[in-house]
Amino acid sequence: MQTFAINTLGCKVNQYEAQQIIKFLAGCKLLYVQDFKSADLIIIHTCCVTHIASAKSRQLVRKAEKQNPNAKIIVSGCLVSSDPAEFKNLNEKLLFTHNLKELFSLLKQEFNLQCNSFEYSSLEKFCGQTRAFLKVQDGCDGFCSYCIVPTTRPDISFKPIDKVINEAQDLVKAGHKEIVLTGIFLGAYGQNTVKRKNWPNNENPILAEMLEKIAQVPDLKRIRLSSLEPADVTNRLLEVIKNNHNIMPHLHLSLQSGSDKILKKMNRQYTVKDFLNSIENINLQLDRPAITTDIIAGFPGETVQDFAQSLSVAKLAGFSKIHIFPFSKRNGTAAAKLQDHIKQEVITERTGKLRELEKQLAEKFRKQFVGEIAQVLIEDEVNPSTGSGQTPSTVRQSSPQAGSGRCERYYEITVKSDAPITNTKNEIVKCKINDDLITGSLVS
Ligand code: SF4
Repeated sequence: MQTFAINTLGCKVNQYEAQQIIKFLAGCKLLYVQDFKSADLIIIHTCCVTHIASAKSRQLVRKAEKQNPNAKIIVSGCLVSSDPAEFKNLNEKLLFTHNLKELFSLLKQEFNLQCNSFEYSSLEKFCGQTRAFLKVQDGCDGFCSYCIVPTTRPDISFKPIDKVINEAQDLVKAGHKEIVLTGIFLGAYGQNTVKRKNWPNNENPILAEMLEKIAQVPDLKRIRLSSLEPADVTNRLLEVIKNNHNIMPHLHLSLQSGSDKILKKMNRQYTVKDFLNSIENINLQLDRPAITTDIIAGFPGETVQDFAQSLSVAKLAGFSKIHIFPFSKRNGTAAAKLQDHIKQEVITERTGKLRELEKQLAEKFRKQFVGEIAQVLIEDEVNPSTGSGQTPSTVRQSSPQAGSGRCERYYEITVKSDAPITNTKNEIVKCKINDDLITGSLVS
């Protein structure tokens, strides 16, 4: 039996596609293996969102070549579509594909695979992960000036609601308790452009409609939404979240910058005022929601004042988590051509300041919940006899029975118990949050 391995970088959409590839190859009777050395076929599903992601993608390709020179190696994903020059020094024997359709036909031809007509667009399970991602939307034509995605994924599509529901039902049947609805521009679900000005009434009611239906899927315990923009969080959407206790009180809204001047240069579709108004509304309607975000440090032309505005908007918004991206020049984007690039040491310094702030804000957010009961979906169960697992070692030593996972508001909690607990992986357990902010004591 032929074997294959796959390694994936990047966003939830890429992770979802990797699962589609696994499903396709398993359907063609290939055996999935974890390591490169025992694979006849290796697929590297790349990402190019930052230069670090591109570098890691190339490193993985080299690692595959080195570890298994006899394997056939296919490089797929965003990096291939964004800049073929990225691969100019790599082995000529490598095969490149731009999208899944191309990948699957290449696989059939090159490997003479005997696949029957095969449906891979939906998943029945999400291998190797407790929380399942469900891709409902793809593509972007937003052309934020720093972003390469409209070049790599220009075709906008969405999965019809009935298909989303069927897939969610299958994922629940496979044992997944949490589903994360994912898209390149999730807020454009149901639309054929991400440009809000081209939507009827500049609003998209279809996302809320889909969310309301998916919340009714029997035994689906938790739903989260991946990234949104402020205007996507309509009152209707908030009403659906409020009325369905299985939709988690957590929203990810990408701020990117707290300066209107920079947001304009980024070609974002909101102002700082829009952003803060949306946060105020969310806080009014939901119980202490977690609002997570992305911020870019050192976008071209970002002055000391612009950066200070990013810090102050982050404080005002009270983010529970900030994903910090040092600005990374991506060839083929409008931002790459701007003249006023910021020196690397300044970008590094600003990134450090954002990290400090992020730590403070995360602590402040978590403190509100000390002594309260949280529900944690256990993703890593610690082996009671060895203490092995993914739980931080400081926690592990004092509590060998701990397992860890995310609570409703998305932050990680290590659950401690006086008595040994086993088989908790993929269970939702209740715990009382301790004042160290990172652990909770199991309650029955
Ligand atoms: S909205 Fe902007 S940041 Fe998001 S994928 Fe589209 S171009 Fe990139």
